[in-house]
Amino acid sequence: RAKDEGGGIHCRYEPSLHANAEERRKLELALRNAIGKQELRLHYQPVVDAKNGTLVSFEALLRWQSKDHGFVSPGKFIPLAEDTRLIVPIGEWVLYEACREAVRWPGEIKVGVNVSGEQLLEPGFSTNVVRALVDSGLPPYRLEVEVTESIFLRDARTARQTLEEIMALGCSVALDDFGTGYSSLGYLRALRFSTIKVDRTFVQGAAQGSVESLAIIRAVVAMADSLGMTTTAEGAETAEEVALIKNLGCTKIQGYYFGRPMEADEALKLIGRKGRVAAA
Ligand code: C2E
Ligand code: MG
Ligand code: MG
Ligand code: MG
Repeated sequence: RAKDEGGGIHCRYEPSLHANAEERRKLELALRNAIGKQELRLHYQPVVDAKNGTLVSFEALLRWQSKDHGFVSPGKFIPLAEDTRLIVPIGEWVLYEACREAVRWPGEIKVGVNVSGEQLLEPGFSTNVVRALVDSGLPPYRLEVEVTESIFLRDARTARQTLEEIMALGCSVALDDFGTGYSSLGYLRALRFSTIKVDRTFVQGAAQGSVESLAIIRAVVAMADSLGMTTTAEGAETAEEVALIKNLGCTKIQGYYFGRPMEADEALKLIGRKGRVAAA
């Protein structure tokens, strides 16, 4: 993915993408209008307590149903939004929308919101967070911002400062997809993340007998425990994976086994029905 700074938008693409430049340009144009045309929606995926299956939060996940391009997967349009900086206005919409939705949920259930580096490094990001909280009435402790290690690559100081501002508001910050990026333990020393999210490649790897994946999850859980952070295992799809994760001592579990990302109304129904999701 082209992430060069400076230069105009047009210089950002890698040569390998040139063949698809035309298609990409069309997609970018469509994405530019997606908010106004109300083509973006948030889905919510449950995260449960590994010990007892109680619902602890939902992660807000962006969906784009384009009139011209059909359903476009986040794996495709999020990188495009980042490269073109469209993620800044889109991410702002996500933040407001997620807070507005979460305020309808009972007391302790949090909402996780993914925030890209481009968005976090934008001046005034934490002011946006304040405004989203105030406008929606969501208490700060119910918002968990999810960032990946890549945010520290470009401007670690600003990233750290902004995350500290957000933490000072009372929000929590999770380190997403841990282990897949440029894992530097320095980040864990510098910032009090509430949660380390163990990437699903490790969870699925361990379940398939990878001793390396298993060892890495063990190490991450031990490290998180000593640092006073919790762990969320991502991508548990089967009962075997759930059992393994519980055994490894992860704090929380997120995965198709407990629920796929669902529409806001469905999430609300799930809360009403259970307050607790499937027996863990
Ligand atoms: P992520 O933040 O790591 O989100 C978790 C992804 O794993 C989601 O993919 C979710 O649907 C998927 N997942 C959860 N459980 C399972 C499982 O059991 N099996 C499998 N195979 N997959 C599972 P999704 O929704 O396609 O999103 C992909 C990525 O796009 C997210 O990864 C996140 O990095 C990014 N993204 C999504 N929404 C937003 C957003 O609003 N803002 C930003 N900046 N990024 C977003
Ligand atoms: Mg996430
Ligand atoms: Mg993740
Ligand atoms: Mg992931």
